[in-house]
Amino acid sequence: MGWKHVALGVGLAAALTIDAAVASAEDRPIYLDPRQPMETRVEDVLSRLTLEEKVGLIHGDGMFATAGVPRLGIPRCWMSDGPHGVREEIAPDSWKAAGRTDDFATHLPALIALASSWNPDLAISYGEVIGQEARQRGKHIMLGPGMNIMRTPLNGRNFEYEGEDPFLAARMVVGYIRGVQSQEVAACAKHFAANNQETARGTIDVQMDERSLREIYLPAFKAAVQEAGVLAVMGAYNKFRGQHCCHNDYLLNKVLKGEWGFKGLVMSDWSGTHDTREAALFGLDLEMGTRRPYDGFFLARPFREGLEKGDFPMAALDDKVRRNLRVLFAVHAIEGRTPGSINTPEHQATARRVAEEGMVLLKNEAGALPLDPDKVETIAVIGENAVRLQAPGGGSAGVKAFYEVTPLQGIVKRVGDRVSVGFSMGYQENGHADLLDRAVRAASQADAAVLVVGLKHARFLDDEGSDRRDLKLPFGQDELIQRVARVNKRTIVVLISGGPVDVSPWLPQVPAVLQLWYPGMEGGNALARVLFGDVNPSGKLPCTFPKRLEDSPAHALGVYPGKDGTERYEEGLLVGYRWFDTKQVEPLFPFGHGLSYTRFQYSGLKLVKGLERVKGVELAKEEAAKEPVVSVEFDLKNVGDREGAEVAQVYVQDVESSLPRPVKELKGLQKVLLKAGESRTVSIPLDRGAFAFYDPAKTGWLAEKGDFKILVGSSSRDVRLEGTFRLAQTTLER
Ligand code: BGC
Repeated sequence: MGWKHVALGVGLAAALTIDAAVASAEDRPIYLDPRQPMETRVEDVLSRLTLEEKVGLIHGDGMFATAGVPRLGIPRCWMSDGPHGVREEIAPDSWKAAGRTDDFATHLPALIALASSWNPDLAISYGEVIGQEARQRGKHIMLGPGMNIMRTPLNGRNFEYEGEDPFLAARMVVGYIRGVQSQEVAACAKHFAANNQETARGTIDVQMDERSLREIYLPAFKAAVQEAGVLAVMGAYNKFRGQHCCHNDYLLNKVLKGEWGFKGLVMSDWSGTHDTREAALFGLDLEMGTRRPYDGFFLARPFREGLEKGDFPMAALDDKVRRNLRVLFAVHAIEGRTPGSINTPEHQATARRVAEEGMVLLKNEAGALPLDPDKVETIAVIGENAVRLQAPGGGSAGVKAFYEVTPLQGIVKRVGDRVSVGFSMGYQENGHADLLDRAVRAASQADAAVLVVGLKHARFLDDEGSDRRDLKLPFGQDELIQRVARVNKRTIVVLISGGPVDVSPWLPQVPAVLQLWYPGMEGGNALARVLFGDVNPSGKLPCTFPKRLEDSPAHALGVYPGKDGTERYEEGLLVGYRWFDTKQVEPLFPFGHGLSYTRFQYSGLKLVKGLERVKGVELAKEEAAKEPVVSVEFDLKNVGDREGAEVAQVYVQDVESSLPRPVKELKGLQKVLLKAGESRTVSIPLDRGAFAFYDPAKTGWLAEKGDFKILVGSSSRDVRLEGTFRLAQTTLER
C-alpha cells in the first residue's frame, strides 16, 4: 500500500470504530468517511485538534506508541521492531520485556541473508510475512527495513542491512517495503543516513563528499521513497556534516522532503533527538525514545511552550501532525483493520525459502557437497553454533520465535534415521581444551565433519551498540577447524555471521565452506536441505570478503572508526568491490560470488538498443531518464545435471567520463531457475540512470554520451560476456 491506494480511500471490510459505527453516512465527520480523499480527511482532523492534542501526536507516550486522540477515535500509533520479525512486547516505560505469552512471531533470516538471495520477489514475500504478523499484533508501523551500507565489515549491525552495493540494496528493500505495506502496515526505512558503524553511533560526525552520498548512501532510501512509497523513515543516531541526522536540515528538509517529495513521517531513532529548535524546524515529525517523562521530550512540552510563545510557527506543528495522520490513515488505523495472521505454514515456508536462497556456497571442491545420505554413515556435527538459538539476539532486531530449528536439529531430522549423527561443542567462549580434543576425536571417526562455527549476537560480535574488533573468528575456532580438517578430509565449514570473517587460516585445508548468515527459525531445515542436495544453493555474496581487514577501504585508509568525533569517508565512492576493482586489490571472495551444485553457461550477448525508437526526437528530461536505453540479452544454459538457479549480474563500466568513476558498477540482475540442460534467453533492461553518475557541480545525474562496457557475469570477478554500448545523447536529471 503506497500513497495511491490510500488516496483512493480503499475501504476494506473494516471493523469501524465506535464513533464511525454510530454516525450515519450523512452526519459522520469527513475524516471518518473512507470515500473522502486522504488529504481531505487529514485536514478535517487537523481542524478539530487542540494544540495539546496535536503535540500528543508527534512524540512518544510509551516506548513504542504515541498518545492518539481518544476523543476523536484516533488510536495510539503502535510501532514495533524489527526487520526480521515482530519483536516481543516491551514494557510501556522501560526496555524490559513485557513478559507476555502472546507475543511470539515468525523469525525470518537476517536481511543480509535476504540480500544474498538476490531475489527481489522473495523480498516481497518476506515483507508480506512481516506485514501480516504486524497486523495480527496490532502494529501500525514496523521499524524496518534496515538499509545502511556495509562500509566496513566490522559494523555490528551489518546483519540487519543488505551489504555493500546501493543497487542491490535498493532492489531488495523496495520488495520488502511493498510486501509490508500491502498488509495495511507502514514500513519504516532506517537509519537515514550514513549510519554505518555502531562505534560512537550517537555522537560520530560523518563527513563525506556529495557524490558519495548520492551514489552510495542514498540510493536505497530514494528507491524506498519514490518506488516503494515507504510511509515512514527513521533518522539515524549519528551526525551528518555537523548536525544530528534526526533533525538534519539538509538530509530531511532539502533532500528527503524537498527533492524526493516524501509525504510520510520522519521519526527519530530512540532518544536520537537532541534539540527542540532543530527538531521543530529541521524535518523531524515524531520523537521517539526512552527519556521520561514523555511530556519532557523535545517535541512535547518544550515545543508546545515554544509554540505558545511564538518561537516556532504553528505551520511547523501542523506539517508534522499531517504527516503522522497520513500514516494512520494509510494503514486504516482509524476505521480499523481485519486481523492478520501469525506463524502460518506459509510464513514458515517463506522463512525456510529465504534461508535456502540466501545461503552462499563459498567453496566446494572434490564434490564435497552435497552429502549423499546413502553413502555417508556417520557425521560429526561440531560447534556451538550448531545448537545455539540466534533469534533473541542482536539488539532491537531480536525476535521471540515460535521455535527455532538449529543446524543440529535440521540435520538430525533430515538424515537421523539413516545416518549416525554425533554432536560435539568443540569450543566455548572461555576456552576448554577438552571440548576441542573430543571434537577432533569425533571428527576422526566420522565420514564427514560439519563444523557450524562463526560469530554470534554478542557484544563486539554481531550486535547493536558495538562493532567487531577484527575479522577473526573468536573462541579459538581457527584452531578447532584446522585440527578437524587434519583428521577428516570431508570437513564442511558452515559459517554463521552477519558479514565477512577471516577464513584464511584454514581455507586451503577444507574442501567446502557454506555461508549461512543468521538463517531464522527454519535455518536448520534449510541448511540440511542444502547439505544433502534437496536444494541447490543459489545465494551470492552481497559484500566482498577481503583477504585481510587492511584491504578494505576504510581500514586501508585508516579512517575507521574516526578521529576526534569525526569520521571522514575518505574512500569516497570506492566502497566494497568498487575499491577492490579500482585499486586492483585481490579479494578472497568477490562481491556477487556464490557457487552452485550445477554449472551455467552464458552465450550470445546482444545489446538491443531501446533508444532507436526515439532517435532524433528531443525528449523531455524526465522521459529521457525513464526510457529504457538498452536491453542486455543473452542465453543462459544449465549445463550440469541438476536443477539450479543462477543470478546473472550486469555491471556497467564507463569507458571515458568527465569525472573519475569506479571500474564497474552493478546495474542489473536477474535470478533464473533452470532445469538440468535447460536454456533461456535472459533480458535485463538498463535505463539512463544505469549510465549516470552524480555531478556535484551540476547537482544532478549526468549520463554522458559515449561508450560503456557491459559486463555480464556470475560474480563481479567472473565476467562471462562483454559488449560495448554507445550512449547517443548526454542528459542531466535533477
Ligand atoms: C535502534 C533502532 C530501533 C529502535 C527501537 C534503536 O536503538 O537503532 O533500529 O528501531 O532502537 O528499538
